[in-house]
Amino acid sequence: MTRLLLIGPPGAGKGTQAVRLAEAYGVPAISTGDIFRSNVKNETELGKQAKAYMDAGDNVPDSLTNALIRDRLAESDAEHGVLLDGYPRTEDQVRELDAFLLGHGQALDVVVELVADPDIVVERLRKRAVEQGRSDDDEAVVRHRLEVYREQTEPLIDLYENRGVLVKIDAIGSVDEVTERITAALAERGISLPDAATR
Ligand code: ADP
Repeated sequence: MTRLLLIGPPGAGKGTQAVRLAEAYGVPAISTGDIFRSNVKNETELGKQAKAYMDAGDNVPDSLTNALIRDRLAESDAEHGVLLDGYPRTEDQVRELDAFLLGHGQALDVVVELVADPDIVVERLRKRAVEQGRSDDDEAVVRHRLEVYREQTEPLIDLYENRGVLVKIDAIGSVDEVTERITAALAERGISLPDAATR
């Protein structure tokens, strides 16, 4: 019954850690970025609506994002825990998530903030642009995504800190090191890895 949220600037490694943590804790990783990208690829109506915002490095409007996440969280695999990656990223999305969780008698256990220096994330994304060819990893777009993060998402960190659920993790280091830091911090909060044999 673990409900976690990963928050941090673009390039901090949320997607990479989300996949590993979801596997380790036995909960589905739900990434709004991945869901949008697959909709763009499959040219769905949602994908068509989201594409221009994504290419520009802007947030997709809350109305679209909230509707999408409401449907996803209502699926049966999300009943017993989730790992949210990239959602919520605006105050309006926090309100939506709060209402959903409250309505289902659920709550977030921990919000993990991946802390990374902007220069380092810009450099990581420059590499990813070459390796994966993501259309929003162009340098000017990356800078804009960082600005959008600072304006719209960073305020959520204080909000979660005030609720007493925030854990800050240094995101600079190897992928394994960062995963270990997160699992250690979660263990301190009473969230331990399920016994591999019982999974
Ligand atoms: P990153 O964290 O590296 O910016 P994501 O894969 O999380 O990458 O997001 C890529 C793009 O998808 C964002 O720039 C935005 O356009 C869109 N997106 C993802 N999640 C959300 C969200 N919760 N609200 C609005 N737009 C989103």
